[in-house]
Amino acid sequence: MINVFQPSLGEEELAAVAEVFDSDWLGHGPRTKDFEAAFARHIGVPADNVVFISSATDGLFLATELLGCGPQDDVVLPSISFVGAANAVAATGARPVFCDVDRHTLNPSAENVERSLTPRTRAVLPLHYGGHPGAIDEIARLCRERGITLIEDAACAVTSAVDGQACGTFGDLAVWSFDAMKILVTGDGGMLYARDPDHARRVRALAYHGLDQFSGRSRSSRVPHRWWELSVRDFGHRMIGNDLTAAIGGVQLRRLPEFQRRRRAVVEAYDDLLAGIPGVRLPPRPPAGHTTSGYFYWVQLPPAIRDRVAADLLDRGIYTTFRYPPLHKVPAYRSAAELPGSDRAAESTLLLPVHQSLADADVRTVAAEFREAVERAATAAHI
Ligand SMILES: *Cc1c(COP(=O)(O)O)cnc(C)c1O
Repeated sequence: MINVFQPSLGEEELAAVAEVFDSDWLGHGPRTKDFEAAFARHIGVPADNVVFISSATDGLFLATELLGCGPQDDVVLPSISFVGAANAVAATGARPVFCDVDRHTLNPSAENVERSLTPRTRAVLPLHYGGHPGAIDEIARLCRERGITLIEDAACAVTSAVDGQACGTFGDLAVWSFDAMKILVTGDGGMLYARDPDHARRVRALAYHGLDQFSGRSRSSRVPHRWWELSVRDFGHRMIGNDLTAAIGGVQLRRLPEFQRRRRAVVEAYDDLLAGIPGVRLPPRPPAGHTTSGYFYWVQLPPAIRDRVAADLLDRGIYTTFRYPPLHKVPAYRSAAELPGSDRAAESTLLLPVHQSLADADVRTVAAEFREAVERAATAAHI
């Protein structure tokens, strides 16, 4: 089976984990701090402003709670979003308002966002589809002009940037995901960035029982008097990362440039091998100045054959999928929005396998099987 996503883990990660075992400390501690500092350097922000947490989804829940979103608020997010983003909004009582996306890029334009703003809009929560930055700088400008908070779901944008500025640093708050199917993996884990140092401090407390000044095991031997006493400021959760997953993350972060090079090569090979198939549209090339993490490689097919092609490929050992099913169609969110770009994207888009362990031969196999599956499906559907 050729997987659609797959992590790359090896000897270096094992050695880092062995070191944590030897240290007799698996919890939140010095390796967590090191990973936060290294990630902060990677995205070009101060270390105090990033918090290693248990998942990107938890980060989104922390973000909406931190902002005090409630029943009086709207939060605008693209319909083509991860389900956890809408849940993080709805759980506070705020209303998720879904905006449309471009049918080819699956990212919203600033106009798509602007059309969905209301006087109640408290925050805008876009993602970077497949790692493509999208119109993030225009959306950030729009939010600044209107005094609206921008939360970036940078879950799959770990190496994405616009003119050298990392995705996730355009707004007020952002999350990245290191779950098992992302590019940089820690098993489960995520990073939260808060532009405002005060927000970052509150997030640290909210992520650990609401305790003030939580720092886990520190390298310093100076401990406060009666260090076991409790100072609770918010009724917090337990959403912190730990030294075991941080140690894996540190190695993965160092390997990111290598991952990135391989993914770029896979994307370029697909662009060549898949060119000119009748009825098939390849993903957009990022505009000048934009760097994509290359998390998704998506093709667009006539809706009449998309599902048949996916099933046919699965029969031949090639796993494909579609992300993210449109949220305005999910009854729980009670949306009445009509979003033709999202509908069109959702019925025509298919994600092909792309990960850094994909061999050249795998890429050729996927491309050849895809080409044949499209021909068979088109013949069967008489198109
Ligand atoms: C994976 C993903 C998430 C969720 O990340 P977790 O760490 O699994 O919670 C959120 N948003 C997007 C866009 C994702 O791709």
